Amino acid sequence: MEEHSLNLYAKLIKEATRMEVYAMRADKDQRPELARMYKALTVSHKAQARRVLLQIRGFIGHSDENLSLVIDEELPAFIKAYAKCHHQAVEINNKAIAIGCDHASRITQMNLQLAKRAQELRQRPDTFFICDFCGFIASANLPDTCPICTAASRRFKKVC
Ligand SMILES: [Zn+2]
Repeated sequence: MEEHSLNLYAKLIKEATRMEVYAMRADKDQRPELARMYKALTVSHKAQARRVLLQIRGFIGHSDENLSLVIDEELPAFIKAYAKCHHQAVEINNKAIAIGCDHASRITQMNLQLAKRAQELRQRPDTFFICDFCGFIASANLPDTCPICTAASRRFKKVC
């Protein structure tokens, strides 16, 4: 049952991401009615995925426990997975995947530092600017360009 639920969760997240990309394309094609529909489907798939995740994981712990889990297990697991992905991409000489995995690894290492800082300093929340292309997170100040993928500042989304 858990394997079935994990597969369903993965499919929902994959579909939510696909809908998000379709929405971006519809925005670019000046089709706001389609963009809105795809954005609604994105939110719907994410809500369904969240329910499945809660069924798999059960009780969600206290915020301090969640933060420890993110720092000790979840982000390090991604860093390890991206390193493996990078290594395999280099072996088959696929530069695009190698660069993507390298970027993801660097971003995840920075995110790990961000999470550790949140654990150490319990202060007022930061404002974050997230590169909508590669996922790099800048805190406090909006950069002129993304230090990872060089996207322009207009590609950043503010999260308060
Ligand atoms: Zn970027």
